[in-house]
Amino acid sequence: MKIAIIGGGLAGLVNAILLSSKGFEVSLYEKKQYPFHKVCGEYISNEVLPFLESEGLLPVHITPSSITQFQFSSVNGKSIEMPLDLGGFGISRYVLDHHLVNLAKASGALVHENCTVSNVSFTDNKFQLTTTNSEEFTADLVIGAYGKNGVLDKKLGRSHVNDEAPFIGVKYHIKTDYPKNLVALHNFEGGYCGISAIEDDKFNLCYLGRRADLKSAGSIEVMEDQKLKKNPFLKSIFENSDFLFEKPVVINAFSFRPKNLIENHILMSGDTAGLITPLCGNGMAMAIHSAKMLSDTIVENCNNGVIDRAKLEAQYTERWNATFKRRLWVGRQTQTLFGSKFTSEIALRLMKNSPWFANKVMKNTHGQPF
Ligand SMILES: Cc1cc2nc3c(=O)[nH]c(=O)nc-3n(C[C@H](O)[C@H](O)[C@H](O)COP(=O)(O)OP(=O)(O)OC[C@H]3O[C@@H](n4cnc5c(N)ncnc54)[C@H](O)[C@@H]3O)c2cc1C
Repeated sequence: MKIAIIGGGLAGLVNAILLSSKGFEVSLYEKKQYPFHKVCGEYISNEVLPFLESEGLLPVHITPSSITQFQFSSVNGKSIEMPLDLGGFGISRYVLDHHLVNLAKASGALVHENCTVSNVSFTDNKFQLTTTNSEEFTADLVIGAYGKNGVLDKKLGRSHVNDEAPFIGVKYHIKTDYPKNLVALHNFEGGYCGISAIEDDKFNLCYLGRRADLKSAGSIEVMEDQKLKKNPFLKSIFENSDFLFEKPVVINAFSFRPKNLIENHILMSGDTAGLITPLCGNGMAMAIHSAKMLSDTIVENCNNGVIDRAKLEAQYTERWNATFKRRLWVGRQTQTLFGSKFTSEIALRLMKNSPWFANKVMKNTHGQPF
């Protein structure tokens, strides 16, 4: 049975490793060439540790940072610190995705790099994939793992593409003097910026902002001066760090609106199925978990090379909704408390006066170790 996976981020790569090691004929199509940087805070919730360790998916040649504390500051720079319930670790996507693609290749998956899938059709129980280089491939099953905002979404006519996509994401790697066991979320007018340690004494500095603010500022640098540096924590980080990239990695125009899990029989995984707000700090864990869930469901519904498509789709939908739907909803509601002077002060006061509230939000936006 041939399985095509579109997109080689965490969701695509974990699906590729799990399915090819079960004997499926897996082809993965990734539009870029590994290794490469990606907009992401690179803080991974520990809920994925048991799975990554049991499958041998963690790189052993590097030591990720261990993160146990959470700091939150309002737009005005008032702050609170608290222990993290489950905690997490920091590792760059440059290292992690590169490690996983090597494992995918070693487990037998065929990885096509620099290969953008531009269309997928389904007829007579078979998929036909077309790439921007006009190559054509066929498959029995297709997994959509192409991330937040794919051109493919438009081609497939997914309903959320008509929604507003007001957000941008910006990422740097820096060297700075900051506690290594801390993940911080610093609010600014229009967004929030995270900082946490990754491997090799480096830190990730990554923020979510508004497209409209970038447009009116005219450049990222001016927007950072006008918006981010008004928060004293961010001002100090920007002024006292070595920035390791020549320019930031940027992603433009995405939203957190709900999406359809299955589209024309394509099974969506990771952000393509649903993107959780970054303040929850567990989109990577969700991408990995959703890939495990999908791969397990495919294996269960495939007997002697024949797939029960209707049962597979129904089971995957039921499992995904039970595990992720509420988390995404809570993430969207919580996000309304961030990115403005007024609401970030309310969030700060709620956390200060009611540790119960802070714990409740953390519990409802994070999953259990699996
Ligand atoms: C600002 C910001 C900060 C974040 N911080 C964190 C954090 O600290 N912790 C956390 O857990 N999560 C965080 N997230 C979320 C996290 O980055 C995502 O949830 C995670 O990357 C999802 O993985 P994925 O595999 O679904 O998608 P991706 O990692 O985006 O992978 C998709 C892949 O598909 C490829 N692709 C796209 N289109 C095509 C195509 N047509 N053909 C072929 N290939 C294609 C892309 O090149 C990409 O490699 C953050 C997100 C944002 C926006």
